[in-house]
Amino acid sequence: MASQRQIHVGGVPIGGGAPVAVQTMTKTETANLPETMAQIRRVAEAGADLVRVAVPRDEDVEALKTIVAESPIPIIADIHFNHTLALKAIDAGAHCVRINPGNIGGPDKVAEVVEAARRADVPLRVGVNSGSLPKHLRELEFTNPVDALVAAGLETVALMESLKFENFKLSMKSTSVPNTIASNRIMAEKIPYPLHLGVTEAGTKWSGSLKSAVGLGTLLADGIGDTIRISLSTFHAEEEVKVGWEILKALKLRERGPVLIACPTCGRLQFDMDSVVAEVERRLEAYADPIEVSILGCAVNGIGEARHADFGITGAKDAAMIFSKGEPLKKVPTDRLVEELFAEIDRYYEAGKTV
Ligand code: SF4
Repeated sequence: MASQRQIHVGGVPIGGGAPVAVQTMTKTETANLPETMAQIRRVAEAGADLVRVAVPRDEDVEALKTIVAESPIPIIADIHFNHTLALKAIDAGAHCVRINPGNIGGPDKVAEVVEAARRADVPLRVGVNSGSLPKHLRELEFTNPVDALVAAGLETVALMESLKFENFKLSMKSTSVPNTIASNRIMAEKIPYPLHLGVTEAGTKWSGSLKSAVGLGTLLADGIGDTIRISLSTFHAEEEVKVGWEILKALKLRERGPVLIACPTCGRLQFDMDSVVAEVERRLEAYADPIEVSILGCAVNGIGEARHADFGITGAKDAAMIFSKGEPLKKVPTDRLVEELFAEIDRYYEAGKTV
């Protein structure tokens, strides 16, 4: 049930069967160009398809011109309250502008932004947030927050359609995972436009990642959602991107880089598996292929358990086994395990093979 319509943010297609795009938002003061650009480069390297920057002041719009020119990925300008900033962001070359029609100063101001977006062929992200629903829906929000979110979303869509503007994606954000799931499920049935998914203010890296994985993962598994943003209270936006990718990789919606599988360990473990897993994970970062590497703490279930893995190891106290696609390759001393594993992986690539 991916959206029927497709829009393009810069060169990135959103919706209409395109791969689910991962986005994040910079956490720097946008006008601080060195820091903002450094963060944008880091998130792009981590796999962000798109990045949003907050534009609350004129100096941020000024900076936007340089950011758009230098960024390796398309830029979305995030505007609240001040529609003239949205107009200026479009002039500055933003690839997409995010506004919440409910807080931008009324339908006339929305119409002005839509007109400018139309002229510049820039898509909009229009959103509703559970925390800032229109006044007439506040009562309903109290009794039925999902209906209130959906009603606000549909009003936003109706407003866009009344302006004959279809170059937009919709977001309905809530801090509640069940409400995010329920409202987006309903909306996906009702509108053909792409959906931006996110659980707003999801929390710390640990709890926020889990909330996002449950909320967004449930929707994505049903084919709902065209772009995702994981909101984490961390100063490193690239962490959000990595979590977003893990969700897409877990659902086999997209591939990016190696997949590491490790057993949970138990009382049979007889070597320092924590260090081995950490080292293998670190070294795998240098590989771009979606190679699957499996680390089993012991041979109790045999290598058959990780038959699908491109490479794997079963550890033991002194001698470990390296295997590939269920076939043993060689026995190695446990203290040489990581070295030997990567020697095998490199040999495989040197032979010109890919996964
Ligand atoms: Fe325990 Fe071995 Fe299974 Fe790991 S692979 S959980 S160590 S039995």
